[in-house]
Amino acid sequence: MHELLAKQLAEATRASGDIDLATLTRLVSNAYDEADRKQRGKGSASARAGTTGLPASADRELLVAEVKTQNLRFETAVENMTQGLCMFDGEKKLIICNRHWLDLFGLPAALGKPGTSFRMIMEARLANGHYPGRTIDELLAERESIHKERKAKTFEQRLRDGRVVQTYHQPMADGGWVATFEDVTDRLRAEASFRLLFDSNPVPMWVYDRGTLRFLAINDAALAHYGYSREQFLSMTLLDIRPAEDRERALQYVRSVSETYVTDRAWRHYKADGSEIYVLAYGRALTHEGRDAVLCAVVDVTERRRAVYELRTQNMRFEAAIENMTQGLAMFDGERRLIVCNRRYAEVYSLPPELVRPGTTHRQILEHRVAAGAYSGPDPAAYIQSRIVNADEAKPSTKLLEFPDGRAVVVSHQPMPGGGWVSTHEDITERRRAEARIEHMARHDALTDLPNRVLLREELEQHLGRVRRSEPLAVLCLDLDHFKAVNDSLGHPLGDALLQAAASRIRTCVGDADTVARLGGDEFAILQVAAEQPNSATGLAQRLVQALGQPFDLSGHQVVIGTSVGIALAPFDGNDPDQLLKNADMGLYRAKADGRGTFRFFEPEMDAKMKVRRALEVDLRKALGNGEFELFYQPIVNLEHNQLSGFEALLRWHHPQRGLVSPAEFIPLAEEIGLIIPIGEWALRKACTDAKLWPDPIMVAVNLSPVQFKSKNLVSTVISALASSGLPPKRLEVEITETVLIQDNDTTLAVLHQLRDLGVRISMDDFGTGYSSLSYLRRFPFDKIKIDRSFIRDLARRDDSRSIVRAVTGLGSSLGMVTTAEGVETDEQLRLLRAEGCTQVQGFLFSPPKPLREIAELIEKFRGPARAVA
Ligand code: C2E
Ligand code: CA
Ligand code: CA
Repeated sequence: MHELLAKQLAEATRASGDIDLATLTRLVSNAYDEADRKQRGKGSASARAGTTGLPASADRELLVAEVKTQNLRFETAVENMTQGLCMFDGEKKLIICNRHWLDLFGLPAALGKPGTSFRMIMEARLANGHYPGRTIDELLAERESIHKERKAKTFEQRLRDGRVVQTYHQPMADGGWVATFEDVTDRLRAEASFRLLFDSNPVPMWVYDRGTLRFLAINDAALAHYGYSREQFLSMTLLDIRPAEDRERALQYVRSVSETYVTDRAWRHYKADGSEIYVLAYGRALTHEGRDAVLCAVVDVTERRRAVYELRTQNMRFEAAIENMTQGLAMFDGERRLIVCNRRYAEVYSLPPELVRPGTTHRQILEHRVAAGAYSGPDPAAYIQSRIVNADEAKPSTKLLEFPDGRAVVVSHQPMPGGGWVSTHEDITERRRAEARIEHMARHDALTDLPNRVLLREELEQHLGRVRRSEPLAVLCLDLDHFKAVNDSLGHPLGDALLQAAASRIRTCVGDADTVARLGGDEFAILQVAAEQPNSATGLAQRLVQALGQPFDLSGHQVVIGTSVGIALAPFDGNDPDQLLKNADMGLYRAKADGRGTFRFFEPEMDAKMKVRRALEVDLRKALGNGEFELFYQPIVNLEHNQLSGFEALLRWHHPQRGLVSPAEFIPLAEEIGLIIPIGEWALRKACTDAKLWPDPIMVAVNLSPVQFKSKNLVSTVISALASSGLPPKRLEVEITETVLIQDNDTTLAVLHQLRDLGVRISMDDFGTGYSSLSYLRRFPFDKIKIDRSFIRDLARRDDSRSIVRAVTGLGSSLGMVTTAEGVETDEQLRLLRAEGCTQVQGFLFSPPKPLREIAELIEKFRGPARAVA
């Protein structure tokens, strides 16, 4: 045996845990053969050995001696092997053995001497009780058959004490053999328990070939978890259960797995049903049935991952929610250190990035807040102290902090169970401003910025409380005369400008303690606080009438309006806001009725009148339906031929309680509440129907209210009344007052022309009562002028009345218009009218208005001699 072999053996021995018996045995066998060949090469004993190639026995002894002497290291190696070793020659005589082999079978050292026969050794083993129930012959026969096969062979034998020895038998060229023995009891036990652990482990496990990646073993848990059958699993490689893109990483992992460390990684795997799972794989290299393999245990973390993922998205949502809050939010721990805060928090206090980091102390932030001016109270140090105390108190609280820069922040403090707190910080500066604006708007008029009715009532309420302690006050209501006409003709922008200009003039008239309010439209009210009443109110009202009577200049337009004022005094005229305003309004109503441009104090009987008026209104609304109206007719006489020209229809109201109510009383009311439209239509239809019964050409004159001209269907109503009665249009006359022309617009004139075009005649009634009557006459070609009763009454006494009558009759004859004198009561009046050339007369002198049933008789009377009319 030479040096090299000894070295190999020595190494093999050292690593005997790793080297298998076959290799070991082969090494020894080779070493023997080598040595044998060398021996023969010296041409000594080998020649005598004949054709068998086996060394002669003398040579063998020599060889053993040579080995012993020449290579002590080899001997040492053999002695120190963990395996047992023995070598027999072709004659079944021991060549060498080691101590371990002797020990395995409990053989005495004497039997370990070279030359001991195999039979002796087997007998000793039998004698030691290793093969119970067997005979030496049986054993030898059995061994003989193994030798005869002349093939390497591994077999196990169970020894007396139950331990298992694995034997590797290697025949040699000379008919001898080398055998090595290993006590595998522990290893088998370990393998069995490993197998048990693997198979019945609840954790899915498998073993795969590190080269081919093919699965070699699968435990039941893995089958159950993945859903593949064992056959399917064993036909797959590791890559088959992973997504393709993981291939490279998987290969790298497989290479990195070592025998000494468990390597873990997270992977995506596919189950048999195609679903994807996330696993942690714990791998460790090992030898499996002689193959380089990897044992792998997998833990399914799909659920855990999902939970973590959900937690993370949940966190992200929380973060987004917190970041997007309009309030600032900060959370501090029990050590008063910032845990987290949002962007808004930093903005509210202008915190720099280094102060919003977790760990920043509450005090640091407070100090910064103070430096940035975001503190409340006079003393910054006291502020810091108060916030710290507040934080320490561990009580929920909400505080409004007002900063020196005018900002206001609402801070809500909420302690947390384990110490520390969460606080929210809402900058309400803008909100407060907006609220103040809204508050202002709710109590002020947008156009003039004057207080509105709401604020006026509040102020009144407040002052009335003091009035009781005898501090008198006055409420003045005013509206602008003719405002509507200006607004309609000049347009709303100028109307607005006029209201603003009027508002500022009103303000110049009042004192500092007074309140000017706009109630809406062109209505204003003033609360005057002054000790001297009613003198102060009178003075103020005069100033207002004077100031608002001055012309206004509106972008080049000269506008004259004027105002009417009503005044109520507290506490005499009332002691609650509504009553005072209502009474002042009644004064205003009176002032307007008395010709505008003036003021009136409220008087208790105004209230009584208003009450009567309201009662009348209620009754009037029912009158038409109840058939309480009747038409009376008053004759109109033509002076030229002393003939009956026609009748004027005059409304009568038979009030169920009050009896006959004068049209002078109810027509203005009917006009005010719009009832004049249906009443007027009724009168028109009734007059036409009645007149149709009278002989042609006797006419009927119907009074039309200005309000009827505002309604769109006046013309169609007239047409319908004529059509349904069958009265020829030329027998119908309508009387209008100049008010119709004051509300002048093109539609009024158009309506008049349409009526004229039908053949209806148009009269100007009450002529002379207005102040610019003559000019109206030029705007429309009237058929008739009716001179107002007031001129006729004074005809005999006043020259100016007479000259007016003369002027009108002159104008009438020159323009081709009939002139009618109203209210003729005396022969004297008639004589004078005749002398002035008046065309027609009407009055008690001939007849008062009479009901329809008396008209036939009247007509008959007028057919008689001429004196009947004079
Ligand atoms: P008016 O149109 O000026 O009518 C003439 C008024 O003078 C009538 O009063 C009539 O009765 C009265 N009268 C006639 N002759 C004399 C007289 O010799 N002496 C005196 N002192 N008075 C005389 P009445 O019927 O009370 O009507 C008053 C006003 O009511 C009418 O004035 C008219 O403006 C209005 N009115 C009457 N009926 C109607 C109607 O159907 N429609 C409209 N819109 N107004 C009507
Ligand atoms: Ca009339
Ligand atoms: Ca009249």
